Amino acid sequence: MQKDPVCGMTVDEKKTKFTSEHEGTTFYFCSANCKSTFDKDPHRHGHPK
Ligand SMILES: [Zn+2]
Repeated sequence: MQKDPVCGMTVDEKKTKFTSEHEGTTFYFCSANCKSTFDKDPHRHGHPK
């Protein structure tokens, strides 16, 4: 299981259709909405540093 970086939900990486690659890391999302939120600003959600 993976964690949705936008909303914090646990996501089954084998089932979800909503994935995004950023700097060599694949992120998994619970919904298209979370994916598009991430895609707009990946550093805010995927790379909090
Ligand atoms: Zn989500």
